[in-house]
Amino acid sequence: MIHQYDVIVIGGGIAGLYTALTTAQNNCRVAVISKVHVTRSHSVAAQGGIAASIGNEEEDHWEWHMYDTIKGSDYLADQDAVEALTKEAPNAIYTLEHLGVPFSRNQQGKIEQRRFGGHTKNYGQAPIKRACYVSDRTGRAIMDTLYDQCLQYDVTFYNEVFIQNLLFSFNHCCGAAGYDVATTTPHVFHSRVVVIATGGGGRIYKTTSNGFASTGDGFALALDALLPLEDMEFVQFHPTGIYGLGILVSEAARAEGGVLRNGLGERFMERYAPVLKDLAPRDIVSRAILKEISDGKGIEGKDFVHLDLRGIDKEQLNRKLPEISSFIRTYLGIDPSDSPIPVAPTCHYMMGGIPTDLQGHVLTDIVGSVLPGLYAVGECACVSVHGANRLGCNSLIDLVVFGRFAGMNIIREIKSKVLQPLPLQAESIVEAKINRLLESSGSECVPVLRESMQRVMTEQCSVFRSGQTLENALGEIRQLEKRCLNVGLTNKSCIFNYELQEMLELTNMLKVAEVIVFSALKRTESRGAHFRSDFPERNDEEWLKHTFVSESPMGLKESFKPVAISKFAPEMRRY
Ligand SMILES: Cc1cc2nc3c(=O)[nH]c(=O)nc-3n(C[C@H](O)[C@H](O)[C@H](O)COP(=O)(O)OP(=O)(O)OC[C@H]3O[C@@H](n4cnc5c(N)ncnc54)[C@H](O)[C@@H]3O)c2cc1C
Repeated sequence: MIHQYDVIVIGGGIAGLYTALTTAQNNCRVAVISKVHVTRSHSVAAQGGIAASIGNEEEDHWEWHMYDTIKGSDYLADQDAVEALTKEAPNAIYTLEHLGVPFSRNQQGKIEQRRFGGHTKNYGQAPIKRACYVSDRTGRAIMDTLYDQCLQYDVTFYNEVFIQNLLFSFNHCCGAAGYDVATTTPHVFHSRVVVIATGGGGRIYKTTSNGFASTGDGFALALDALLPLEDMEFVQFHPTGIYGLGILVSEAARAEGGVLRNGLGERFMERYAPVLKDLAPRDIVSRAILKEISDGKGIEGKDFVHLDLRGIDKEQLNRKLPEISSFIRTYLGIDPSDSPIPVAPTCHYMMGGIPTDLQGHVLTDIVGSVLPGLYAVGECACVSVHGANRLGCNSLIDLVVFGRFAGMNIIREIKSKVLQPLPLQAESIVEAKINRLLESSGSECVPVLRESMQRVMTEQCSVFRSGQTLENALGEIRQLEKRCLNVGLTNKSCIFNYELQEMLELTNMLKVAEVIVFSALKRTESRGAHFRSDFPERNDEEWLKHTFVSESPMGLKESFKPVAISKFAPEMRRY
């Protein structure tokens, strides 16, 4: 089946929906394609908030937000991009409000704001209330609003269609091909513009806060098209995943007064970050938790610590953190106002991704060449505003600001873009890939290989890594990629064949895992979320640069791009 549109957006999270809405409002024919029903995209899980210096609770300025974001990034973020983000953020919040997002309100009826990790007043002096929110269901509220608006502007949705390939013609991206998960029928989307908005890849790790759909497909689509990925070594571990499950307890819990305690009952973050304490950036808090555990100060000597919300007034807990409180009652059978919550770091966010400029164009190299017709937005893109470590609440604002910038730019450019011819046999490429797997009869099975990948990545390439663990991981991931060629699917059905889908996702995850490990191996320093125990110091002289990795006939190859620095010279991070 072949469909024609002006714009197709692969992925219907907040980033994809925002770009779709912006272009649809300006008379483009737009389709959003999502491998899960759009309203189940991971963006709905965002709890804590969306950062902007609107200053409703206390004095704030975009320059303070810019400084915090750059310092939080361990000086790897491109400062022109951070400036664009933080300047535009207040406007983006008001636009969301006008679209209908029901933000929580303070006593004066203004949008209420809360504290969040790493956000400060007056260049690091003390925590500031900068995160706007809708109770602890911020992502859900934004998603519902954008989805309603997209329907109003006649965006067409293809739910449960799994994209497998980008299509190119004369070096222009001219569409994408995939299949309908319900029937395994191939679908080809032919368009003037393609936007990748496929979110993150937390499922590569054993413990993650990410939904099942976060398998890094967009990164793999880019790699398959021989495009580079930028800064993939920087994988964020959120400090407070529910122990053993990885489900997130938002930083909002600490913003509202929750504290971390070790097995001795100590509020240990006071030692690691005397000013911001429990609201230090995530890389610092995650390392502190693991350090306490390795020093034998986990709870009863085990590998978790406690998040203690008992100091928060019960009424406030129910009003401001209803979703989190209900998760804890459901999954742990305890009441967070009576008992502390067992937590440990959980894989949460990919700082790296498909390199783009401020308008969302996908870049093909370190000098900034643009691939005509192709854009990327959201977590799968690397603009780069998060550098080596993202601050809480800065993802949602990134999705909205850059989702809109990309949309506006597409409107400007689309007039000059003609529909390029489709490559021959676009449909049959997907068909052949699926048939080969359905007919496969090898001895390997998907869950076993997936668990091995998750174990390798968790043990060898998570919060702490070293040359040795990374070498091991690279060898093991490559071995798993070979074993994948010998998979045999037991389910041969063409109706909702999830074994087939999981196999395709596994192939994507392994490709991305290899790039993460490869990039981490190249970076012989520690910065932000990338901590090398064999190179524990940050090394600005050699490493104030972005890693670009792409596939080539000889295997993976790397190159480096200098960081754009404007207002803030790198300094050592102290919180
Ligand atoms: C539990 C949790 C809480 C969070 N809380 C916050 C917060 O409070 N504040 C904040 O700023 N950030 C938060 N984040 C981070 C933020 O929510 C995410 O980074 C962001 O929502 C990603 O949005 P996205 O639009 O890029 O992609 P997603 O929302 O992940 O959507 C990806 C889309 O791509 C589609 N897709 C993927 N692959 C394919 C394919 N091959 N074919 C077709 N479709 C495909 C999916 O179906 C989906 O529609 C949180 C993240 C998590 C996991």
